[in-house]
Amino acid sequence: MGTVDITMEQWQVQEQATVLVIDDELAIRDACCQALSKGGYKTEAAENAETGLYRARQVRPDVVMVDLKMPGMGGMELLERIREIDANIVSIVITGYATIESAVEAMKRNAYDFIAKPFTPDQLRIVIERGLERRRLAVESARLRREKERMKENFVTLVTHQLRSPLASVKQYLVVILDEYAGELAGKQKEMIERASKHVDSLLQLISDWLDISHIDAGNLMKKFEPVDLALILSETLQLVVPLAEARKVTIKLNLHDEIPVIQGDRESLKQAFTNLIGNGICYNREGGKVTVSTREDGNYLVLEICDTGIGISEDNLHFIFEEFFRVKSKETRGINGSGLGLPIAKRVIEAHNGSIKVASQIDKGTTFYVTLPKKEVTQ
Ligand code: ADP
Repeated sequence: MGTVDITMEQWQVQEQATVLVIDDELAIRDACCQALSKGGYKTEAAENAETGLYRARQVRPDVVMVDLKMPGMGGMELLERIREIDANIVSIVITGYATIESAVEAMKRNAYDFIAKPFTPDQLRIVIERGLERRRLAVESARLRREKERMKENFVTLVTHQLRSPLASVKQYLVVILDEYAGELAGKQKEMIERASKHVDSLLQLISDWLDISHIDAGNLMKKFEPVDLALILSETLQLVVPLAEARKVTIKLNLHDEIPVIQGDRESLKQAFTNLIGNGICYNREGGKVTVSTREDGNYLVLEICDTGIGISEDNLHFIFEEFFRVKSKETRGINGSGLGLPIAKRVIEAHNGSIKVASQIDKGTTFYVTLPKKEVTQ
């Protein structure tokens, strides 16, 4: 696959766009080059596909005009090969009226436009201008994509080193003060430091969730895929959430079917996704409430249901719950801490496993999340 190797800055310097005309008819080559030179373009010409390809590699044109019917390497193959040099070179097909079908075929192979013979210099210039506009946009969007990636990388570094580390150290000091190693605390002081410590915990959790999202977005999950035993992951997850359930007086029931099939995945991230889902079932519940985790099979898929008897989510809010930083604001949720990243993380993890996640909820009755994961194919 070709790469974009022209920057916007280079583009602006290289104001005079280059058009390469590849056609075996001398009259067409000459007519195109003349008309385009008059329009202020730099032109190059080649009489067959092989020479055209060679010239394309040398001059890196902005636009290539290709006659589809040439002896030797055909125009279709030429289009593909030009794309391999640079995916942002705009290809325009020159065609006779009788070959509109092949022009359509060329468009399917990523030619941007076509011009039918005979054409006037003005028609030619209009097609070239349109092609160049397309190239400008493609180059600009590639530049913006790169810039976004760079900003994201810089931001991850900033968050990791400049925010998380000092914050972790603040937390450490607060723990030492709370343990009264730095002297006895009066009741009011203790209360305030405890509150500060909780806020620092929330911030650290937020940073950690956010870093997890960046890690998943960078495509790092798939690198660690291996056959995993979901029953084991679920029982480990349960151990993690039991203290929370006890504190909130919520009971958890595990309803696993026999012989849960192996799936291909990343243990830690799956555990995190299930912890987020079951943890939410506990947090957004009521005293005496219940969370039931059950599994079943559906064809080639394994379905996991996490069902709670909690506060539920209104239909208006249900559309947004997988969005980053979204949290329902209500009387019931006011006292519950969270980053609004738990569900987006779960969704990304599940989708990275080629699975899907759905939710159904009824206000005041409860919520059920349905996680569908493909079973690992059994190889003989
Ligand atoms: P948070 O850190 O706020 O829990 P999540 O992304 O996990 O972030 O969830 C987003 C919001 O969706 C929560 O703030 C909550 O309002 C709502 N929510 C998630 N799970 C449940 C649930 N099981 N029951 C009721 N509301 C839920």
